Amino acid sequence: MPEIKVLPEEVVSKIAAGEVIERPASVLKELIENSLDAGASRIGIEIKKAGRGLIRVHDDGRGMDREDLRLALGRHATSKLGVFEDIYSLATFGFRGEALYSIFAVSRLKLTSFKAGSDSGFSIEGEGGRVTAELPAPPVKGTTVEAADLFFNTPARAKFMKSDAAERAQLIRTVEEAALANLGVSFRLVVDGASVLELPALPGGPWENLKNRAAAVFGKSVYGGLARVEGRTEGMAVYGLVSRPDALAATRANQHYFVNRRPVSSALLRQALYRGYGHMLTGRHPACALFVELDPGSFDANIHPQKRDVKFSSENEIFKTVSNAVYEELLSKQTAEVTLPSPGAAAGFSAPDVPAYREAPPSPPPAAAETGSLFGAAPAPQEVPSPAAASPDWRSRELSYLGQLARSYLLFESDAGLLVVDQHAAQERVLFEKYLDEFDKGGVKVQPLLVPLEAELSRSQMETVLKWRDWLKTAGFEIDQRGPATAVLRAAPALFYFTQAAFAEFLGYLSEVLGEPEKAAEDMKRSVIATMACKKSIKAHDFVKPQEALRLMEDLKRTKDSYHCPHGRPTLFFLSGGDIARRFQRGSAV
Ligand code: ADP
Ligand code: MG
Repeated sequence: MPEIKVLPEEVVSKIAAGEVIERPASVLKELIENSLDAGASRIGIEIKKAGRGLIRVHDDGRGMDREDLRLALGRHATSKLGVFEDIYSLATFGFRGEALYSIFAVSRLKLTSFKAGSDSGFSIEGEGGRVTAELPAPPVKGTTVEAADLFFNTPARAKFMKSDAAERAQLIRTVEEAALANLGVSFRLVVDGASVLELPALPGGPWENLKNRAAAVFGKSVYGGLARVEGRTEGMAVYGLVSRPDALAATRANQHYFVNRRPVSSALLRQALYRGYGHMLTGRHPACALFVELDPGSFDANIHPQKRDVKFSSENEIFKTVSNAVYEELLSKQTAEVTLPSPGAAAGFSAPDVPAYREAPPSPPPAAAETGSLFGAAPAPQEVPSPAAASPDWRSRELSYLGQLARSYLLFESDAGLLVVDQHAAQERVLFEKYLDEFDKGGVKVQPLLVPLEAELSRSQMETVLKWRDWLKTAGFEIDQRGPATAVLRAAPALFYFTQAAFAEFLGYLSEVLGEPEKAAEDMKRSVIATMACKKSIKAHDFVKPQEALRLMEDLKRTKDSYHCPHGRPTLFFLSGGDIARRFQRGSAV
């Protein structure tokens, strides 16, 4: 007796279905993609019993005639692929002709459709892959697919379902993602008889539409914390909305990534986003609707049965473009518009608030609105509100030092009013640029430590530090391992001054923020290191002598961005004579 058997077709189809159809949300995702491919402008979805009872998708797309309907249920039946090479350049969502076949194998399925030009509509139904009825139907534009009793014939798979609440959440997320990526289409979702999402088709410009959809999908409070990002490099564009660093969340629940408007879960994109925040994440998570647009030939969505993961041909480029777009946008949006600190805090002053972000004024939508792509045209230049615009240029003025406040702020008088400088932020900015300058000039000046500093780390932190050890050496840090999880600092950049505690914190930070050294872009690595090192090497609440204060301002003058510390917080603000006079309700300046 031979031991190898050929499996019956019915078994094969169930196995194949298991790969494509993992849970109710995968059914819904395939059905929505088919509706979108059919050119639908309205998609109505009804769910019962977390998708196990019923998933019904109705669209107003181009529909199918009797013959199409029969073919659609067959394996590898697709109207979207002619030759194999098309797989790599297809602009539609489906292309393997496997979805309906797979759903049919594990549910009771009914397709009803009408195609313009046919005498009547038609419907076809069956279960577990066998057609049981074919009937004429009313000529209603579009297609309705009803998948009932999912996994009724594969009890093992049914057992893998999560709780109703979890499956429902995934179903809703599926609709949300489709809605974020298809702004011109209306979506309606009804779950167990209750309307859950009601998203009208949006008529405006692309950014306006994306913002409106995002507001509806994320809800007001998350939406309120989002900032717009965009960037492009040769052959690719990145755009979308991401959380400002002051509006992060405890979970990743609100992250949506898209490649050519196809929802994906890509570790690469996620890491790139996180890297864009650098240390600003502090263990929290951004929300995002992040879109990457690429030449369809430069990635492969076929590696994953549910087409959820993608393989990019140029990972480094993508990583860099995404993380840079996020990083630059977030830092540039910060402004130094600080209101006067309110008195009464312990030190006499409360610390300045988290950076005041403001959304940039809306720029006109790119001209290519009608193409549906946000990137048909060159991105409109973005105006970034800067404190520089609001205050007189202190750099060209004579400053006289008035003194130090709360061992934290330096006060200067000029002919235009009062300049208040956050000494900490200003020192960080100066150090940061000096350090990066040394890097650029090809050598960080290193100083061996007379007494090496030690830091106790967790094993996983130690792992990360060791991975980065060679690169850190080029950055001026000579780090050794002693024992399983003790790091020893033998030499450091001469610019920096670390205490034992600061060094331990610095390494702790680093190991949280850094991932794989090979994956990160060089300039991003540098600025992450520089930002953290500067922060840790400066002592808070330090007495500053008058000469030091003036010296600091001289150094600050020469920096490229003297208005922000490397974290983007303001370094200084200006109170004009007029501002002061108004506070005392005087008519004229001092
Ligand atoms: P694929 O989408 O990969 O082609 P599917 O099994 O999802 O494979 O669908 C098979 C075919 O059925 C599609 O190529 C399309 O021609 C047709 N079809 C499926 N859903 C719809 C729909 N909602 N409207 C019009 N045609 C559809
Ligand atoms: Mg499909």
